[in-house]
Amino acid sequence: MRLSQFHLHTSKEVPAEAEIISHKLMLKAGMIRKLASGLYTWTPLGLRVLRKVERVVREEMDAAGAIEMLMPAVQPRELWEETGRWEKFGGQLLKIQDRKEAWYCYGPTHEEVITDFARQELASYKQLPACFYQIQTKFRDEIRPRFGVMRAREFLMKDAYSFHLDDADLDRQYEVMHEAYNRIFTRLGLEFRAVFADTGAIGGSASHEFHVLAASGEDAIAFSDASGYAANVELAEALAPGSRAAAGENMTRVETPYQRTCEAVAELLKVGLERTVKSVAVIGEQGFVLALVRGDHQINEIKLAKLPGLADYRMATEVEILENLGTEPGFIGPVKPLKRVHVIADRSVAAMTDFVLGANEKGFHLAGVNWGRDLPEPDAVADIRNVVAGDPSPDGSGRLQIARGIEVGHIFQLGRTYAAAMDCTVQDANGKAVTPTMGCYGVGVSRIVAAAIEQNHDANGIVWPEAMAPWQVVICIINPKKDPAVVVAAEALHRQLLGMGIEAAMDDRGLRPGAMFADMELIGIPHRIVVSERGIVAGTFEYRHRLAEASENIGLEALLMRIG
Ligand code: ATP
Ligand code: MG
Ligand code: MG
Ligand code: MG
Repeated sequence: MRLSQFHLHTSKEVPAEAEIISHKLMLKAGMIRKLASGLYTWTPLGLRVLRKVERVVREEMDAAGAIEMLMPAVQPRELWEETGRWEKFGGQLLKIQDRKEAWYCYGPTHEEVITDFARQELASYKQLPACFYQIQTKFRDEIRPRFGVMRAREFLMKDAYSFHLDDADLDRQYEVMHEAYNRIFTRLGLEFRAVFADTGAIGGSASHEFHVLAASGEDAIAFSDASGYAANVELAEALAPGSRAAAGENMTRVETPYQRTCEAVAELLKVGLERTVKSVAVIGEQGFVLALVRGDHQINEIKLAKLPGLADYRMATEVEILENLGTEPGFIGPVKPLKRVHVIADRSVAAMTDFVLGANEKGFHLAGVNWGRDLPEPDAVADIRNVVAGDPSPDGSGRLQIARGIEVGHIFQLGRTYAAAMDCTVQDANGKAVTPTMGCYGVGVSRIVAAAIEQNHDANGIVWPEAMAPWQVVICIINPKKDPAVVVAAEALHRQLLGMGIEAAMDDRGLRPGAMFADMELIGIPHRIVVSERGIVAGTFEYRHRLAEASENIGLEALLMRIG
């Protein structure tokens, strides 16, 4: 590739809206451009990287025996009614109408579509196990899209779905996928942890999340390197026998001014209701505001503006709030003053915003609340657990460390929930109709690009792991317009590298060396070769690895050794 004929568009400016390094660098390097909130164009440069990730994912899925297919992004409402998710999925589901006013959604995930496919295609146990995957664009109307492609609304996911006759076979496939995921993230050169995750509302039997470790990660994970135990913090809390969660003293009460709690709630709402707050009940003596509790407890009018510390915060509509909180409209009841404050939120946000959440009485809040253990009723906060670094690992070996992670993959044993809801059966060996059990396996293909940058950068820009670099090598030509000989030499080297199967770009744009090198460092090319008149005279190339302190002048043979 000649960069003079490629669209490279770097900039020195750090865009104001970019909060984390990967977002900044992706914009500066010109990998992505924002179209609207959570919607990004992948530029030619960005797309090269995205395709690298995609290729590794595809190869490992193929190797794991999954079969590639492609399902529509737009999905009819009727399918989602079958599983009840048309309502239950909440505000993340983008609902759209066609010209006949029939409803569709833009798929945030494809369990319904694949189960519909399976019930039509799979008739006999002889066709099982079956495992399909696709690499496809999803849309989730995230309450707070941010960090560029890290939490976008439209994003690229690899999603796979498997069908099995029995649980043992699902276990087997789950292990195969788990291993495939390990290989994907290892090949991509990422430092990651696979952690046990809560199977939550869907009620499957096993689940793991794959997290790329990074300080900016939105999730907290707990792990013990001594034993290899790892879980996301919510689950670690639920499992930890020796933690403060021990029965009877599973609640930490800390005195805090009521005002402070209200500010905390305000902060939470700003940080991102959707991923953090599972349940909120705030109403106090001072006459305000917002209540939402699970079960039979009501939600009153939402008047956040009256909450101290919320003067500048405006919440849109009650319906939106409901959707954001992921509850069902049926829970709205008459306004009834509550005296309690309950906020059940993701701990990672607690850490981010530097407060702990929830007060069950005026003047108190709970430390280490756990969203997984909801409130059965407003007066009793049951089963609040707490895990901190240094706690014994639940498997009894080593102590827990807590780190921040970016969720880049998630595998899940779904069980028979979807197949049963959608009447998907196959005939077993005796000709009896049986419901297959399912697994689902997601990878955030586009998120991986951002996560990799979070982990691999320096003051000069991105430092791509080899497998993700847009090109492995760049040949920088000094003064191409003045000096035909350097162009000839560079072209010969370029041809040679391409012939060896090495992805090489040639920077023939004619920039000053300083500007050219800065660009190549910013976009993170691992190997840089400079071809100059001086080098030609000396019979050497100037070579520098992206992470090397200095460049070296070496002959062709040594050069090929360095990059080969
Ligand atoms: P998160 O907890 O970050 O919201 P999730 O648990 O909702 O993610 P899954 O339903 O498990 O996501 O989807 C599979 C994968 O898709 C995730 O592991 C993640 O890597 C990726 N993903 C999910 N939401 C987004 C998004 N808004 N932008 C980019 N990638 C995403
Ligand atoms: Mg999500
Ligand atoms: Mg998640
Ligand atoms: Mg997930």
